[in-house]
Amino acid sequence: MTLYVHGTEDPRFPQPKSPTRTRCQKQPQLFDFEHGDGNRKMPELERARRACSGCPLVTDCLLWALVNKELTPVGIFAGTTPRQRTTLRARLAERLGPDWIDVLADRQQARRNRAVTSGCAA
Ligand code: SF4
Repeated sequence: MTLYVHGTEDPRFPQPKSPTRTRCQKQPQLFDFEHGDGNRKMPELERARRACSGCPLVTDCLLWALVNKELTPVGIFAGTTPRQRTTLRARLAERLGPDWIDVLADRQQARRNRAVTSGCAA
């Protein structure tokens, strides 16, 4: 298991970047969400989820948010609430084992290596 300093980004999973500003950058208040906000902030939550569903970064954003737990204790990321991310992390641990982040990192690296070998960009 690889350990990183509390609150720092796992360098194997950098935060995805977009050449244009994403909705969460333009309207961060829409993505502000904590445990217990479910009923009170339902309209904002639904708007944030719709925005994420059309975001080109959504897949990488979800992976980044799941892996970098200390950086994402609150807020909507890739349409997920903090509670949903906790559930997803537990499912990943069940499926891939307690070192699920390392497993995912190894898979990503293998995919990149295959892409390089086949001449495609990763
Ligand atoms: S998917 Fe991630 S980057 Fe895209 S709008 Fe949602 S929170 Fe922002």
